[in-house]
Amino acid sequence: MAPSIRLGRIFGIEIGANWSLLFIFALIAWTLATTILPLEVKGQSSVAYWSAGVIGAIAFYVGLLAHELAHAITARRNGVKVSGITLWLFGGVSRLDGEPPNARSEALITAVGPLTSLAVALLALLGAFALAAAGVPALVSDLLFWLGWINLSLAVFNLIPAFPLDGGRLLAAVMWGRRGSRAAGVHSAVRVGRVIAYGMIALGLVEVFLGSVLNGIWIAFLGWFLLSAASAEEAGIVTRALLKSVPVSAAMSSPVIVVPDWLTVDSFLTGVAPQHHVTTYPVHGRTGDLTGVVRLRQALTVPPSQRHERRLSELAVPIADVPTASPNEDLEVVLRRAGESLDKRVLVFDGGQLVGIVSPADLSRLLALRQAQGAARP
Ligand SMILES: [Zn+2]
Repeated sequence: MAPSIRLGRIFGIEIGANWSLLFIFALIAWTLATTILPLEVKGQSSVAYWSAGVIGAIAFYVGLLAHELAHAITARRNGVKVSGITLWLFGGVSRLDGEPPNARSEALITAVGPLTSLAVALLALLGAFALAAAGVPALVSDLLFWLGWINLSLAVFNLIPAFPLDGGRLLAAVMWGRRGSRAAGVHSAVRVGRVIAYGMIALGLVEVFLGSVLNGIWIAFLGWFLLSAASAEEAGIVTRALLKSVPVSAAMSSPVIVVPDWLTVDSFLTGVAPQHHVTTYPVHGRTGDLTGVVRLRQALTVPPSQRHERRLSELAVPIADVPTASPNEDLEVVLRRAGESLDKRVLVFDGGQLVGIVSPADLSRLLALRQAQGAARP
């Protein structure tokens, strides 16, 4: 989940939000202002209800942010790089680069999230009771009471043992400690999570048939979301396990075809590309230095009428933006650096000499081969 709005930094951690957050924000403010608060505290103006609703929605996201910050800060203390926090439709996600060093760290990084929600819940509930006793307007203490209750639900919901919820990660950490490998731990936790997700989908369908359509659809949708998230988590683990201690040289294509960057798109498409099987071409300038990387698909997007004028240098991804690696480097480490989609490709240099390129096609070919070898092993 990539952030689309940058909100700033807290403790050096980048905080972002996805547009989908606005939907839940509006839903919370609307439910508070039109249903929950008018039921609890009667006879207030609609301005008062709506102000309280908006403040409640903001406080909800502050609580969510506290939960994610707890994960992120603990992760950083345990030697895991944190690339940021994204708030979105289903709450928050801390984006961690890499894996915790051991099962204990994983359990700790995970547990602090729900514990923080629990602490926020207790503070809000105590505050609500104290303020009510002190005689402040009921709208204020009621809002605090709602905030406490929602954070308590958040802590409990997050402890459901299904990926990607904290409960699923905790279960994986426990299994990791018991079975000795993270992949094995995640594998068993994912299986438990899958059963729970199917259970939620079934429960949602039953609710729909019993007449509470909206509630049923929501539960089934959450179940479906947990199901697909579990599969994605498992696929990532399998990929990383398959690529562990595989050198870059095993995946790269070579030799590399380097072409001048002043070629027109037309002469590239008619003169160069038909003679080679590769789809990615590094380009060089007049001095011979590499200036960027051009892909066949990019050249094909240039309209035929412009292919005589436009040059490869205009299309190329600048060389400074292209990730590089050395042939003996661990592929898993390089993928973490370059991003698993490999959308910019990876140039492989050996002693300053360009010796190969790694593309998504190279990677999927290698993965398929490794998978076949793994399956053949007794
Ligand atoms: Zn969490």
